[in-house]
Amino acid sequence: MKKLTISAPAKINLTLDVLARRADGYHELSTVMQSLSLADTVEVEVEPSAETVIELTCDKPFVPTDERNIAVKAANAFLQHARMHAHVRIALQKRIPVGAGMGGGSTDAAAVLRGLDALLCPGFSAETMNALAKSIGADVPFVLQGGCALAEGIGEALQPIPVFSGIPLVICKPRASASTKEIFTRLKVDAIAEHPDTAGVIEAIREKNLSALVYRLFNVLEPVTTELCPAIGEYRRALLKNGAMGAAMTGSGTAVFGVFADHAAAAKAAKALRSVCDQVWQAETICENKSL
Ligand code: ATP
Repeated sequence: MKKLTISAPAKINLTLDVLARRADGYHELSTVMQSLSLADTVEVEVEPSAETVIELTCDKPFVPTDERNIAVKAANAFLQHARMHAHVRIALQKRIPVGAGMGGGSTDAAAVLRGLDALLCPGFSAETMNALAKSIGADVPFVLQGGCALAEGIGEALQPIPVFSGIPLVICKPRASASTKEIFTRLKVDAIAEHPDTAGVIEAIREKNLSALVYRLFNVLEPVTTELCPAIGEYRRALLKNGAMGAAMTGSGTAVFGVFADHAAAAKAAKALRSVCDQVWQAETICENKSL
């Protein structure tokens, strides 16, 4: 029996732009993604077996533990591609909120890919791992790599950006969650009135210029999700009122993050926001995945 414990970091979208709707129903994106210190813990255990068995347990009862769990899909995809059989046990300890736009499921899937790669050593190249990740979900290639990157295409074409690490954040999530599929279905691409300054955000990250970064946080999906969940607007205003230099929704929502000048300001705001917001976390931006 071989076993690994892997940290699976959440992500936020510092900007999220939708450029077009493709004929296959997917959308062309241009988004700056960043890994966070807030992370799930994923335990992956393998035993030799004549046939494939994948078992998953999770500490959150509302998360599916069968094939609907994206971590199970990742294990299946990996073993099929490697033409291997194994008895795989996955244990998820969820800290990343579900249906928040923070890549919670995707990062568990990426952790399973990294874990099985380290335990079973099929000799996959980085390109193969990226292709496997893409076949599981649009956000999986980014969380597999981690750090900071401009993601284009459906999110899988990544250009790494040097990380501006240690940015203090407070994340607030309303009780309601969002379905990524529903938000993209409701989005009218031709009606998007304003687009983010993606190049400006990348420049601000490269220069480690927090003031230049915070004014450019922008997500074109935010009005769409806010229509379904007005608390997003309330939480964003509450973050700004409590000292955030800038704030925006991440992914398809419903979590909203605020950027703070220092950790003391973030801690003070988090304390105050706990009486206003349903769920509140403190986190910071981190570099690439180094847990294996
Ligand atoms: P993204 O930012 O990638 O769009 P999200 O935060 O919007 O992610 P998830 O937290 O990944 O969404 O969960 C979306 C749905 O996927 C939930 O309804 C949940 O039941 C299901 N799901 C499947 N596998 C997992 C997993 N490992 N962790 C959390 N949710 C999962």
